[in-house]
Amino acid sequence: MARYIFITGGVVSSLGKGLMAASLAALLQARGYKVRIRKFDPYLNVDPGTMSPYQHGEVYVTDDGAETDLDLGHYERFTGVSARQSDNVTSGRIYQQIIARERRGDYLGATVQVIPHVTDAIKQFALADADDLDFVLCEIGGTVGDIESLPFMEAIRQLRNELGPQQTVSVHVTLVPYIAAAGELKTKPTQHSVRELAALGIQPDVLLCRAEHPIPESDRRKIAQFCNVRAEAVIPALDAPSIYSVPLQYHAEGLDREVLRAFGIDDAPAPDLSRWHDVTDRYFNPEGEVTVGVVGKYVGLQDAYKSLNEALVHGGLANRVKVNIRWLDAELFEREGDELAAQLEPMHAILVPGGFGERGSEGKIASVRFAREHGVPFLGICLGMQMACIESARSAGHAAASSTEFGATEEPVVGIITEWMSEEGLQQREEGGDLGGTMRLGAYDAVLSPNSHVARIYGGASTISERHRHRYEVNAAYRDALERDGLIFSGMSPDGLLPEIVERPDHPWFVGVQFHPELKSKPFDPHPLFAGFIAAGLRQSRLV
Ligand code: GLN
Repeated sequence: MARYIFITGGVVSSLGKGLMAASLAALLQARGYKVRIRKFDPYLNVDPGTMSPYQHGEVYVTDDGAETDLDLGHYERFTGVSARQSDNVTSGRIYQQIIARERRGDYLGATVQVIPHVTDAIKQFALADADDLDFVLCEIGGTVGDIESLPFMEAIRQLRNELGPQQTVSVHVTLVPYIAAAGELKTKPTQHSVRELAALGIQPDVLLCRAEHPIPESDRRKIAQFCNVRAEAVIPALDAPSIYSVPLQYHAEGLDREVLRAFGIDDAPAPDLSRWHDVTDRYFNPEGEVTVGVVGKYVGLQDAYKSLNEALVHGGLANRVKVNIRWLDAELFEREGDELAAQLEPMHAILVPGGFGERGSEGKIASVRFAREHGVPFLGICLGMQMACIESARSAGHAAASSTEFGATEEPVVGIITEWMSEEGLQQREEGGDLGGTMRLGAYDAVLSPNSHVARIYGGASTISERHRHRYEVNAAYRDALERDGLIFSGMSPDGLLPEIVERPDHPWFVGVQFHPELKSKPFDPHPLFAGFIAAGLRQSRLV
C-alpha cells in the first residue's frame, strides 16, 4: 500500500509549499520510488478555471482536461508524472458532489455533515488510485488555522489514525523570520504554528523551516524541543538561487532522509541526482543569452504565466543559454508613438501568449506584424496564434479580420466553436452557456503536414498530442486565403477541421499553435517548440 506524506503550511502563505512538495517527490523518485502528488484546495470554487489569473495565477490544464491549481505544474515539471483530474480537489468540488448525492437521496435520510461526509470524501480523494504507488504526497492549500482548511486537517488527522505511523508522515512548512533590528532569527512563529497544528490533532514529523539566513544549531535545537520534533528533522530551507536548485538543496539538508526515517525506512536506495546536477549545471553556466519579449495582458503578475516562464527557461537549458524574459504590456503598443518599435527592436524573439478578452489584442496583432516584417522569431500560443492569423488575414486584404471573442465581425477569422470531436465523442456547447469547465480542454491530437517546419521541430513526428484550453478556433474557411498569403496550416485536428498549427515558410522562425506547449515542458526534457524557438532567438541575437 502507498505511504502518505501530508504537507501543511504555517505562519504565512506563499512559503513555496508546492515547490517543496514537488522537490520532495523528485528526491523520492530519484531513489527509485513511484510517486504522485495531490493538491487539496480549501476554496469554494469547483476548480480554478473561472478565476482571474490575478487572483490565482495560471490555470494548469492536465491531459485529461482538468483545470487545476498551478502547483500541479510544478509537480509535473519536477517529476515528469502527468497530473490528472483526480490529483486536485477543492472544497467546492467536494460540496458539489455531496449536495448532488443528497439531492438524489443517496444518504437515505441521514443528516449530511462535515464530519463524516465531507471528511470521508476528502479521505477517498487522498486514497483513490494509489495501488501502484510507493508515496502519495498530499499538499493542503492555505495556512494552518484557516477556517476553510479545517475539514482537510480533520481528514488528515483521521487518516493518520487509521493508517498508522508507518504509513503516514506529516511535514509542516513554516517561516523563521529574521528581525533586522535585533539581528536575530525568531522561532516563536514556528512554535505557535506547530501548536496550532497539534491542537487539530496533527503532530508534525518533519519541519521545513523557510529562512533568509542560516538557522544556527541552537535555534534548530530550540525548535525541536518546543515542537516535539527530532533536531535532525528540523530542516532549514534557505532561499534558493533558482527553483531548480531546490531538490539538491533540500537533499543536502536531509529532507528526503528525514522523511524516510520518519516512516522507519533506513535502507532506502541512494538517490540518483544526475538529472538535477545536469539541469543546475546548464542553468548556472550559460554560454550565451537570448532576450525574449512576451507581449501579454497579465504581465504584472508572473504567476499568471508560470508554465510559460518555465518553458522559456527550459528552452534556454536545451541551448545552454540564459533566457531574459521581458514582459511587455500589449496595451502600451496600442498608443500613438514609437513605443512598439522601441520596445521590440532589442528583442531576439517575440512571443504572444494565451489570453482572454479584447483588451490589448490590437497591441498583440501589432507585435505579430513587427515580428513578421522584421524576420524576428515568433511563437504565438493559443490567443497568440489567433492574433497571428488575424494579422495575416489583414495583411492579405481582409481589413476587418477579427475574432468573435471581441464582438460581432464581418470577417470572423477566429470564431466560437460549438461542436468538436474528442476521444469521448462529439462535444457540443451552446453560445452563451456556462463558462466553467466548458472550453476545449485537455489533450487532443494534431496531424502535422509532412516536410513542414513543425514536423522537423517535433523530430519528424506525424501526429502529436498537446493540451488545449480555449473556446474559439481559427476559422478553417480562411485557410486558402491565408495560405496564398504565406501562412501555412501545418497542423490540423485529425478530422481536418480545426487548425492546430500555422507557420510561415517565408520567415526564419514563425509558428503559431492553438494548444499550450508550455504545459508539457520539463527542465530535464525541454519542449521541442521552446528549444527551437530559443535556438532561433540565439541565431537572431548574432544578427542584431
Ligand atoms: N481566448 C481564446 C479562446 O478562448 C484563447 C484562449 C487561450 O489563449 N487560452 O479561444
